[in-house]
Amino acid sequence: MDNKPSVLVVEDDAGIGSFIETILVSNGYSVLRASGGRQALMMLTSHCPELMILDLGLPDLDGTRIIRSVRSWSKMPILVVSARAHEKDKVEALDLGADDYITKPFGSAELLARIRTALRHASGDTASGMPLSGVFRAGDLTVDYNKMHVYLAGEDVHLTRNEYKIVALLSRYAGRVLTYDHILKNVWGPVSSGDNQILRVNMANIRRKIEKNPADPQYIFTEMGVGYRMIEGD
Ligand code: CA
Repeated sequence: MDNKPSVLVVEDDAGIGSFIETILVSNGYSVLRASGGRQALMMLTSHCPELMILDLGLPDLDGTRIIRSVRSWSKMPILVVSARAHEKDKVEALDLGADDYITKPFGSAELLARIRTALRHASGDTASGMPLSGVFRAGDLTVDYNKMHVYLAGEDVHLTRNEYKIVALLSRYAGRVLTYDHILKNVWGPVSSGDNQILRVNMANIRRKIEKNPADPQYIFTEMGVGYRMIEGD
C-alpha cells in the first residue's frame, strides 16, 4: 500500500526509537527515523511526513526549538515524547504548538491512540478556524454546537456561558490535552489573568453537572499540572 501515513520519529535513544518504530510499522504506518534535531529538520522538508513524534531531549537541538521552527511553516501534527517529569516542559511544548504529549514509559495502545487523534484532528477542519457546527457525542454526553447546549442522557444540562465554552472547546479537541493557558485564553480572552483558579472553579461546577462521580470523572480528565482532556467521541 502506498497510502500508509508516514511518521517521522525523532529520538536519540536507539532503543526507544526502535520500540516506537516496531509499534508503528506493525500497525500500518511507514516510519522515518532521525536521531537528532538537525537531521529531523532536514527530513521534514525532504520527506514531508504526515506526523512527527518528537523527543524533547535531543543532543544537538532542544525539542522546543524544533517545534518553534516547524510551526513557522507547517501545521503538521507534532506528538511530543518526554521523559522529563517537569510539567513545565510539556506545557511549553504544547503552548508552542505541539498537538499532544506522551510521557515515557508508555504502552503501545496509548501511543497509537494519541497518533490516531492527532491525525484525525489534522485531517479535519479544526485548524481552519471554522465556527463550531454539528454535535459531539461520548457515552451519555452530547454537546450540540448549533443550539450551544449540553445534554446528559437526553436531559438538559444547565451550564453557564463560560462552562459551555469550556466543554465545547474540550470536546472540539476531544482526546487531546489542552493547557490551562490555552483554555483561559479561548474562554476569557487574551487578557485573561492566567490564573488557573477561575478555571478550576468552573471545572468543579461542570463536573458536578455532568459527571456521576466528580472525583472520578469519565468525560473530562485532569492532566496534572498541564490542563484538561476530554474523552474521545463515539
Ligand atoms: Ca532523548
